[in-house]
Amino acid sequence: MTTLNFTPAVGYMPFTAQQAELLTLAHELGRTKFAPRAAKWDAEATFPFANYDDLRTSGLLRMCVPKEHGGLGADYATYMMVAAEIGRFCGATALTFNMHICSTMWTGALADGIPMTDAEREEHTRRRQVHFARVVNDGAVYAQPFSEGSSAAAGKSPFGTTAKKVDGGWLINGRKIFASLAGAANYYGVLCTEDKGDDKPDSRDTLYLAVPATAEGFAISGDWDPLGMRGTVSRNLTFKDVFVSDDEALMPRGIYFKGAQTWPAMFFTVAATYMGMAQGIYDFTVSYLRGEVPGEPPVKRRMYPTKQIAVAQMRIQLESMKSLFTRAIAEARPNPTKDEKLRLYAAHFSVMEGANDLARLAIRTCGGQSMMKHLPIERMYRDSRCGSLMLPWTAELVVDRMGRETLYESGERDE
Ligand SMILES: Cc1cc2nc3c(=O)[nH]c(=O)nc-3n(C[C@H](O)[C@H](O)[C@H](O)COP(=O)(O)OP(=O)(O)OC[C@H]3O[C@@H](n4cnc5c(N)ncnc54)[C@H](O)[C@@H]3O)c2cc1C
Repeated sequence: MTTLNFTPAVGYMPFTAQQAELLTLAHELGRTKFAPRAAKWDAEATFPFANYDDLRTSGLLRMCVPKEHGGLGADYATYMMVAAEIGRFCGATALTFNMHICSTMWTGALADGIPMTDAEREEHTRRRQVHFARVVNDGAVYAQPFSEGSSAAAGKSPFGTTAKKVDGGWLINGRKIFASLAGAANYYGVLCTEDKGDDKPDSRDTLYLAVPATAEGFAISGDWDPLGMRGTVSRNLTFKDVFVSDDEALMPRGIYFKGAQTWPAMFFTVAATYMGMAQGIYDFTVSYLRGEVPGEPPVKRRMYPTKQIAVAQMRIQLESMKSLFTRAIAEARPNPTKDEKLRLYAAHFSVMEGANDLARLAIRTCGGQSMMKHLPIERMYRDSRCGSLMLPWTAELVVDRMGRETLYESGERDE
């Protein structure tokens, strides 16, 4: 087993050489660069551009681009470990990094596991080179704006944003909300429904198209002054007769819909941010109670049994989150069994709700002086609350799926 000189947010496991290398890189960037800058993005609600310069220079922006396309070829589990390590130090950086990485991972390793005809596979292989080359050669950043404020991002109805086939490409019209990386991304990977002119929108006709930030008819609007994850700058996007060429397709027609059914773990990726944040919350609590937070008076609070009990409770919850998380990333694959899928939901819920549970306990335990703005824990408390809101797997919808999918087999109905 490759050894590290720190314990990663996911805990120790038998890491591959690449995992050890990328975890060390993420840990060092996080500790020395992202953590000290995190308060600034939060206070200003501005995008962490400086962190993205570091992610670009270090090669992490292309970590999930396949090796044959000039990337690092990191697989799903490796990405999840690295993302957690970043989330330990800066939630907004990790969450936006997730949107970018997924744009390359869905078109890369995940797409390889989605059934396609030979013609679709050939088209996909040809087109994804265009996107990968932008990331590898130009350091381009991709956003993932799916949400519309309707039930579409929850997977319950077709996307209201439409794309109509025209000569050489597509004409996009519609609106997205909560587009993380708004104004920072070079391309926006938009999910939209093919407008076939028959007024019968169908989720099976979902298209996944990249809109260049410079495209005519594309605009960013709205304020961004939220509770947490303020550095994600998740503003609204509008598309008014935006033309994109055929090569902007990130997946062939109809493949996103199949992918969502084949690869449920594609929706688990946002949990890595919050897994790491939970570790960051725990790290802070231990160092605060030991009187070791840099710049703070060396006041120890560890001698009180109440605080010792709270730290133990936090550790028990953290370990159970990590166990579920690491098992879920090891099991992630196309067409998981029912048992694996239910565990994946359990992992998602535990991490998303658990991170905020830990933050709540951390503030209660560390006490009043710990929640001042110059310390990171109050930001983590706010940031951690946001995990459960992410569609399609909000905490509510995951519980809903778990109950239904446990009690009903596919296609089963009551009389
Ligand atoms: C910090 C942050 C960053 C984000 N970044 C992105 C991003 O980069 N890209 C992106 O696409 N989104 C992003 N989101 C948006 C997120 O995924 C959700 O879309 C958003 O939080 C939903 O808000 P809402 O008020 O519309 O939610 P809700 O009202 O809870 O749900 C959204 C819609 O889904 C429907 N719905 C909810 N539950 C059900 C149900 N049980 N059955 C049927 N329909 C249901 C409702 O009708 C509702 O209109 C981000 C959110 C946050 C907080």
